[in-house]
Amino acid sequence: MNTAKQSMSPEEIQEKYRVEREKRMRSEGTGQYRELTDAYAEFDKDSFVEPGFSRDPVVEENDVVIIGAGLGGMMTAVRLAQAGIRNVRIIDRAGDFGGTWYWNRYPGCMCDVESYVYIPFLEETGFMPKDKYSKATEIFDQCQQIGRKFDLYSMALFQTETHETHWDEEEKRWNVTTDRGDRLKARFIVVAGGILHKAKLPGVPGIEKFQGASFHAARWNYELTGGSPTELPDKLADKRVAIIGTGATAVQVVPALAKVTKQVYVCQRTPSAVGVRNNEPTDPDWWKSLKPGWQEKRMDNFTAMTSGLPLEEDMVGDAWTEVYRGDLAFGGKDKVKMSPEERQLVDIEIMERVRGRIDEIVADKETAEALKPWYDVWCKRPCFHDDYLPAFNEPNVKLLDTDGQGPDEITEKGVVVQGTEYPVDFIVFATGFETGNLYSRRMGFELYGKGGVSLTEDWDNGASAHTLHGLLSRGFPNAFLYNSAQAAFSTSIVHTLYEHASHVAALVKLVLDKGATEIEPTPEAEEKWWEWVMTGLEYGYDQMKECTPSWLNGEGQRDPEKMKMMIYLGPLVHYSDKLREWREQGMPGLEIK
Ligand code: NAP
Repeated sequence: MNTAKQSMSPEEIQEKYRVEREKRMRSEGTGQYRELTDAYAEFDKDSFVEPGFSRDPVVEENDVVIIGAGLGGMMTAVRLAQAGIRNVRIIDRAGDFGGTWYWNRYPGCMCDVESYVYIPFLEETGFMPKDKYSKATEIFDQCQQIGRKFDLYSMALFQTETHETHWDEEEKRWNVTTDRGDRLKARFIVVAGGILHKAKLPGVPGIEKFQGASFHAARWNYELTGGSPTELPDKLADKRVAIIGTGATAVQVVPALAKVTKQVYVCQRTPSAVGVRNNEPTDPDWWKSLKPGWQEKRMDNFTAMTSGLPLEEDMVGDAWTEVYRGDLAFGGKDKVKMSPEERQLVDIEIMERVRGRIDEIVADKETAEALKPWYDVWCKRPCFHDDYLPAFNEPNVKLLDTDGQGPDEITEKGVVVQGTEYPVDFIVFATGFETGNLYSRRMGFELYGKGGVSLTEDWDNGASAHTLHGLLSRGFPNAFLYNSAQAAFSTSIVHTLYEHASHVAALVKLVLDKGATEIEPTPEAEEKWWEWVMTGLEYGYDQMKECTPSWLNGEGQRDPEKMKMMIYLGPLVHYSDKLREWREQGMPGLEIK
C-alpha cells in the first residue's frame, strides 16, 4: 500500500472535514437549485435537432412501450428483441439514441469508467473502442451502431415527450400519450428515463441579469462557441468564460476550454477529488486475444471489485479499482467487515494521496490549497483526469474559490466572487442535475395505476415507496420503473441497467408465454424486499450522512421521511443473484393473472 505522508493527525483531518462541511450546509438543501422551466426553459433547448420537425401521430398496440432511449431503454429493447419480442416502441424527447451521450457533448466530454466495461454489447457489435476511456462522441456513435445492429430505429419515436401513462383495468393495457398526439396501448411499459438528465441551475442571485451568453454544459451551444463535439470551440480565442461548478463535468470541460479560451474563470464551491487517469489506446493484439463471454466477466469483475468485495484478480486495474484495493490492502478485509475506525483510516490515506497529488502538480500554493478536497472519498463522486490540475498552471486559467459559498451574485457583466466582479462574455453552468425529487418530476410525466391513482400519490411523494426489486410496484401492474427506488448501485450505472434489461426481458417473455395479462407484486413480497434493501445500510449509510453536501446525500439533508426511496447500498452482485434466484424459484410473491 502506498503510504502518504500525513502532516495532520486523523483527528485533525476529521475536524477539518467537519468544519468544511458546515460551511457548505444550506438550509434550502436541494431547494437551492433552479429548474430549467419558465424563464429558464431556453437552457433546456435541444440544439442538436433541426427545428420544425413534425410527423403524424402514431396510434397502435404494442407489447412493450419503453420510455427513454438511453442505454437503459436500448439494452431493454435489445434483450426483448433477442427474446423474440419486437412489437416495441421506444419514446424519447431527444433526436436520437444515447440518453446521456446524446445530450452531453461538451468539449472534453468522455466516460471515466473503462470503455470495455461501460459500453454494452461490444462482443455482439464487434466494436473495438479506440481507448481504455472513450470520448463521448465514440460512445454516442456506438449507441447509434447498437440502434442499427438490432434494428431499434424502426421502433423509435424521437423528439417526442410522454404526456401521461394510464393503466386501463378493463383492457389490461397501459395507455401512453405524447405531445405529438400519439396514442399507444401497451401490455407493458418500461420507464427508463435516467437519473442524471434533468439539468439544474445554481441559486445564485442575479442569474437572470447576465447580458452575455450562458448555457448549461449538458446543452453545450456550439453555435455560440464554435467547434463541434469532435472539434474544440474556435470562437473563444478572444473571450472570457466563467464556468460555475467543479464536479465531474467541469473537470473535463476546464482542460478543453483552457486550450482555446482567452481567459477561463473556474468558480469553485467544493473541490473534486481528482485522481490519475492514464488513458491509453486499445491494444489490438490484446483485443484479438479475448475469449467469447469476456465482456460480462469483466463487467462483473469491475463491479464486484468496486463494491469492495475481496477478489483475487482485478481485471480493469485502474484508479477506480485502486481505491478499493486500498480498502482491501488494509488487512485484506471485506470492506463491510471493517470497523468504522479502520475504514476511516483507509479513507484518510486515500484522500491524503489525492491532496498530495495537487501539491505535486499545481505550482501556485494558494491555488493548490484551495483545490484540496476535505471529505471522505465516497462523499462525492471521485473524478479522474490528467489535465485538470495542470490547467491551473496555465496563465489563462484562474480559480475563483468561493470558500464553500458559491459566487456572491451574477451581474449584467459577469460573476462576483468574494466581493470582486469578474466580467465575462460567457457563463457555462456545470452545476449538475436534479436528483432525489419526485419520480414523476424527474421523468417528466405521471403514471396513473389502478383506480386512477398516481404514482406520486400512491408513494406519498416517496415516503411510502414500495417495490419488488426496485422495478415493480403494486397498484401499477406491468410497469417497470428503472431508477425509481429500492434497486441497486454500481459504479458503472450501465451495469445496473444491464441487469434490469435482462431481468425485464426474461420476465416479459415468461408472462407472454404463459398467456397472462397482468403481473403485480404482493404487499408481503414488497415488504420482504424492503427488509432486504435495508440490509445494505451497513455498507456506509452512516458515513454518507456525515458527508459534505452533494447530490449523493440530498445536499447533506437526507429526509428521514424519504427513507423508502433508498437503494440497496451493497454489491450489485448480491442484487443480481437475488433476481436470478427469484426467477429460478418461479417468481414467488408475484400475482400473475
Ligand atoms: P455535479 O457533480 O453535481 O457538480 C455540480 C457542481 O456545481 C458542483 O461542483 C457544485 O458544487 C457546483 N455548484 C452547484 N451550485 C453552485 C453554486 N451556487 N455555486 C458554485 N458552484 C455550484 O454535476 P456534474 O459535474 O455534471 O456531474 C454529475 C454526475 O454526472 C457525476 O457525479 C457523474 O455521476 C456523472 N458524470 C460522469 C462522467 C463520466 O465520466 N462518467 C462525467 C461527467 C459527469 P458543490 O460540490 O459545492 O455542490
